[in-house]
Amino acid sequence: MTCPSQQDLQQLYDGELPSDQIASVQSHVEVCPACTAALAELRMISDLVRSAPLPEPALLAIQRWQRTLSSVQERSVRRLASWMTAAASVVLAVSLYASLSNQARASAITLAEWETAVIGIDADATTSDQATAQWIATDLSRSLVGQNQSQSASPRQNEAP
Ligand SMILES: [Zn+2]
Repeated sequence: MTCPSQQDLQQLYDGELPSDQIASVQSHVEVCPACTAALAELRMISDLVRSAPLPEPALLAIQRWQRTLSSVQERSVRRLASWMTAAASVVLAVSLYASLSNQARASAITLAEWETAVIGIDADATTSDQATAQWIATDLSRSLVGQNQSQSASPRQNEAP
């Protein structure tokens, strides 16, 4: 005989299984270690929930935390989107540099640091936003200049005929 579904076992445990199915499911459970274990698990979970009810204040705190988290995430996404305009040329330069130099891994590490900075930003500090955006641009251009210095001459020498 095949095992009854998890739903059938749940209904058997809850006493909600249709009366014409109780006998067959029950007699199966008695000889099936897997279903016996599943039923014991249902009983254990049920006992845990009953013995440790979640206090309402804790539930409210969790809901508040979830709302705060989602609103912070929304703000971070919006902020990141607004940065994209200012940083677009820098990002383009990084992408171009990565494809040319085949050092995509180094760029990926830099982008991960951006993400950390974006998430870590204080939600309402706009000056901090600007400072971070400036930091991103400065940091990237510095790393680009640093990488290119060994390969090319200085701009002044390039301009000379
Ligand atoms: Zn079974």
